[in-house]
Amino acid sequence: MNPTIIEDIKARKILDSRGNWTIEVDVVTRMGMGFGSAAAPSGASTGEHEVTAFPDGDVDKSLIEIEEIIIPELIGRDSAEQDIIDSILKEIDGTPSFSNIGGNAATAISLACAKAAASSYDMPLYQYLGGTMMTQLPFPLGNIIGGGAHAVGTDIQEFLALPVGAGDMETCLRTNILVYRKVKEKLRAKGKLCGKGDEGAWVADLKSEEALALLAEACSEVSGESDVEVRPCLDVAASELWDGKKKRYVYRRDRVERTREEQIEFIEGLIDEYGVYYVEDPLEENDFEGFSKIRKKALICGDDLYTTNVERIKKGIKEGSTNAVLIKVNQIGTLTDTYCAVRTAKESNQVPVISHRSGETTDESIAHLAVGYGCPIIKTGTVSGERIAKLNELLRISEELGAERAKMAKLPI
Ligand code: PGA
Ligand code: ZN
Repeated sequence: MNPTIIEDIKARKILDSRGNWTIEVDVVTRMGMGFGSAAAPSGASTGEHEVTAFPDGDVDKSLIEIEEIIIPELIGRDSAEQDIIDSILKEIDGTPSFSNIGGNAATAISLACAKAAASSYDMPLYQYLGGTMMTQLPFPLGNIIGGGAHAVGTDIQEFLALPVGAGDMETCLRTNILVYRKVKEKLRAKGKLCGKGDEGAWVADLKSEEALALLAEACSEVSGESDVEVRPCLDVAASELWDGKKKRYVYRRDRVERTREEQIEFIEGLIDEYGVYYVEDPLEENDFEGFSKIRKKALICGDDLYTTNVERIKKGIKEGSTNAVLIKVNQIGTLTDTYCAVRTAKESNQVPVISHRSGETTDESIAHLAVGYGCPIIKTGTVSGERIAKLNELLRISEELGAERAKMAKLPI
């Protein structure tokens, strides 16, 4: 008997880290011996081109679709035939944006099927996805100061740290935490610490450049004290700043408005001045050409620009927009399409960066996707239960692989 045949599926509402409802799905195979459970996260600074999370924003509508239409169609199917499972989800939905069943329903089902198939073979998910030769661990890109759509703070959404000099996962996590703590001390000393944002990052009463200066200083102190180089990074989430009518990037807190050219100059200046290693979405989500004008030695990553969509990634590659691609499963809705996005990125030497969302659950799948798909960077916060669920899973994967096999990935710059 085929061990990966789906015998039962259950779907339920669970809370995400912001207290919003999302969907969790359990898939059972092999007479109850194989089991996979996955939950979908949700964004706040969502891209215009991502799939719809829930039909009319209603989780209950999604659940009805799952119960009445999807489950009867999937029972008896083979959970290991991921492409077929995912095309059934698309067929049932009937729209390119999952607006009938919801991208979060598709994401949870798609991931739960992969986990059930892996479990049926008694394999960890990363090994099922990547094979036994995929043993590289991703560098964790950790959010340290947060604002934008995630908190009332800085105009730039995220100020992050990347421990580029770390030789193992434990050192990576320790280094990011040292930066996180140092930034807290510095903010407190200045009387600028306001609390925490959606991803557990500090909220700072600072202008964007002041926050970056403070982070860069903390990174350089931690690098000096621990002998592990850690670099400052940014997610500008520039679509949230862009005013299409004014044709300006509006920094409300900083009381500055920038044209596209001024924005490019500003970002290039920050890279030069503070040694920024990685900049995500420096320009608004439809400005492929603008992205290509940033010519500095840094990773320039597309999140809202691409929304994990192969056609958009191909356009960016053609236009020379980026050298890194953010990968979020529920931006596109299925594991098959996520894999295609990673492959498209890699084929053109774009660095795939697997990512959490600002609203998360304790689902740890992206830790496995990062290893299985060979993504050199994982963006999943620094603290908070729903973020450390992924980080601690990376420690477990590292332990399971053993010191000989668990090697940090190679970073391109
Ligand atoms: P999200 O965005 O709020 O849509 O998850 C996070 C990000 O911009 O990377
Ligand atoms: Zn982003």
